[in-house]
Amino acid sequence: MEIGFIGLGNMGGPMAANLLKAGHSLTVFDLSKTALQAAVDAGARTAVSPREAVREAEVVITMLPAAAHVRAVYLDDDGVLAGVRADVPLVDSSTIDPATARSIGESAAKHGNPFADAPVSGGTVGAQAGTLTFMVGANVELFETLKPVLAGMGKNMVQCGDTGTGQIAKICNNLLLGISMIGVAEAMKLGASLGIDPNKLAGIINTSTGRCWSADTCNPYPNVLPNAPSSRGYTGGFGVDLMLKDLGLAVDAARQVKQPILLGALAQQLYQSMSMQGLGGLDFSAIIKLYSNEDA
Ligand code: NAD
Repeated sequence: MEIGFIGLGNMGGPMAANLLKAGHSLTVFDLSKTALQAAVDAGARTAVSPREAVREAEVVITMLPAAAHVRAVYLDDDGVLAGVRADVPLVDSSTIDPATARSIGESAAKHGNPFADAPVSGGTVGAQAGTLTFMVGANVELFETLKPVLAGMGKNMVQCGDTGTGQIAKICNNLLLGISMIGVAEAMKLGASLGIDPNKLAGIINTSTGRCWSADTCNPYPNVLPNAPSSRGYTGGFGVDLMLKDLGLAVDAARQVKQPILLGALAQQLYQSMSMQGLGGLDFSAIIKLYSNEDA
């Protein structure tokens, strides 16, 4: 299939490479020359603007940092809608707010293009391995059309509902993740301070009712899980600043429906304080540092 792909960063780069490996033909665009060169080396053609990248496309995929970039790439004079043929499906996999996703969906519809928001989970490791989960805001017909393309980049595709619901699923999941990591950090640090072996405590939590991803896969206490970021100085993994971005989306979305998110707002402030200390590039499990000025 002929695919126009825009946004070749830490996630989009490997996703585009996997589509090429799956036998698709890609025309790509990114503001970074280095990112473009890597895609050319993997077999893609380049374009000078989003409009040019999508001219021949049968599907368009975007993977951009935030809502402002997505709006510009779709709606600017040299953007996707200015170049794409009617009826070609458009897929945005960036993590952005549901309202922007819906508004771009409306602009696309006026142009005759179906639009799906399809944010992902699985991180850069999942993007490289082609094992991402896609949370897709699209009607069933569009979802079925997109599934074979998404299968080139991911393992699980979930149809969440209409446009915007993929972003809702993503935001709610990461809201819970941000909160649960703080809970695990607090419990692990308290246990260690009171005198139990952290490995023993983690083992008990992970077979008891406190078990969750933050405890059994990404435990914040160093050297409990050899492959977790906490055992390599909190490098790699999912950065504090990315978590902060997602919690900001949750807080904004909650404000729109006038729902309090008490723990989410507190979590946002705690990660904000880490970021202000210059720790925004560390894995978000480094939140355990708030409980101690030692390693954990
Ligand atoms: P990134 O910053 O590594 O990549 C973004 C790319 O978009 C860059 O190459 C940049 O040059 C390009 N770009 C920016 N503005 C552009 C424009 N106007 N036109 C063309 N290209 C433009 O970000 P990433 O880590 O790849 O994340 C992308 C999205 O995926 C974000 O919304 C992020 O929240 C989400 N996400 C990231 C992860 C992760 O672990 N990194 C996991 C899940 C979801």
